[in-house]
Amino acid sequence: MSKQVVIVGGGVIGLLTALNLAADVDQVVVCDQGEVGRESSWAGGGIVSPLYPWRYSPAVTALAHWSQDFYPQLGERLFASTGIDPQVHTTGLYWLDLDDEAEALAWAAREQRPLSAVDISAAYDAVPVLGPGYRRAIYMAGVANVRNPRLVKSLKAALLALPNVTLREHCQISGFLHEGGRVAGVHTEQGVLAADEVVLSAGAWSGDLLQTLGLRLPVEPVKGQMILFKCAEDFLPSMVLAKGRYAIPRRDGHILVGSTLEHAGYDKTPTGDALESLKASAVELLPALADAEVVGHWAGLRPGSPEGIPYIGAVPGHAGLWLNCGHYRNGLVLAPASCQLFSDLLLGRAPIIDPAPYAPEGRLG
Ligand SMILES: Cc1cc2nc3c(=O)[nH]c(=O)nc-3n(C[C@H](O)[C@H](O)[C@H](O)COP(=O)(O)OP(=O)(O)OC[C@H]3O[C@@H](n4cnc5c(N)ncnc54)[C@H](O)[C@@H]3O)c2cc1C
Repeated sequence: MSKQVVIVGGGVIGLLTALNLAADVDQVVVCDQGEVGRESSWAGGGIVSPLYPWRYSPAVTALAHWSQDFYPQLGERLFASTGIDPQVHTTGLYWLDLDDEAEALAWAAREQRPLSAVDISAAYDAVPVLGPGYRRAIYMAGVANVRNPRLVKSLKAALLALPNVTLREHCQISGFLHEGGRVAGVHTEQGVLAADEVVLSAGAWSGDLLQTLGLRLPVEPVKGQMILFKCAEDFLPSMVLAKGRYAIPRRDGHILVGSTLEHAGYDKTPTGDALESLKASAVELLPALADAEVVGHWAGLRPGSPEGIPYIGAVPGHAGLWLNCGHYRNGLVLAPASCQLFSDLLLGRAPIIDPAPYAPEGRLG
């Protein structure tokens, strides 16, 4: 298709959108106000599942299932083409002492997911470092985590190798160019960048940009803090989750513990209170972490949206402008399906899933 596409925002969503479109359009330009892949997509935990998948709408579930099936091959493809391994690490996940276990099991039966109640002694056998006192567990086999900083690094490398893709870092977009009744480009600090199609995938900042058109997109920053430990490679064989806090093992023994959920505007400062609270959760889950050093502590801004349902599709009344944003707590897991669906819509192909629940139409104020 003879088109120039400009993508605003180079997080996992913008980068994967670019990769999907590159094979079918003339030119793709990704603009990021900082370096690509350094915001929420770097800061997240990378669990390739919503934290409590049964609490989400069918719209989120449909994207999650498609993506979960696709992740291993995405990881392999990126590793093969760039030499950077995103490390899709399949560990399974234990939920401990859930209040809504019955709902979880009913959802799993309905959705045919490999989630089942297990005897608590089996959970302790599988995860000997688990803290004392847990009474119930459910386990989902096959759940992976992706090492998201490497995922975005490999996406960046894959794009840099493509002759028709340009990454423009430190290039802030301040608004949209209107010409002949349609959006025909973006305003950058260095001038206008013309485009046939403009894609807004600016994560937590997407709402501000759409406001320049007088449209209200209910996407807002939701701060999340996370801490990191380094343990032996075999310290934690599975992901574990209790009371909303989780521990994620990377292949090399790094353990991430997250996360907070804070409405603090665009402030990304890690705080002492969160550090103490996350450490307390870590030690309750895995007491041996009391003797481990915290080797990292950071915050990221999730693109919060109502019910976590992303906006994917054309902006009504503004031909040439598209959204792929608002993935809230699940942007890493939902990215493959969201970006495939998005490309299907922009290129006029049959969509992989019903696009109606994600359409911006009727959801913008
Ligand atoms: C602590 C934490 C834990 C998480 N854990 C998980 C998890 O386990 N699993 C999961 O699936 N998800 C998780 N998430 C959520 C996930 O990280 C996000 O949903 C996802 O990264 C959003 O991707 P994005 O590309 O939309 O946004 P981002 O990665 O934030 O990218 C947006 C980009 O747009 C750029 N930008 C913004 N404004 C402009 C502008 N005006 N001009 C140019 N560029 C602009 C920014 O610089 C940024 O690079 C977590 C998030 C956090 C913070």
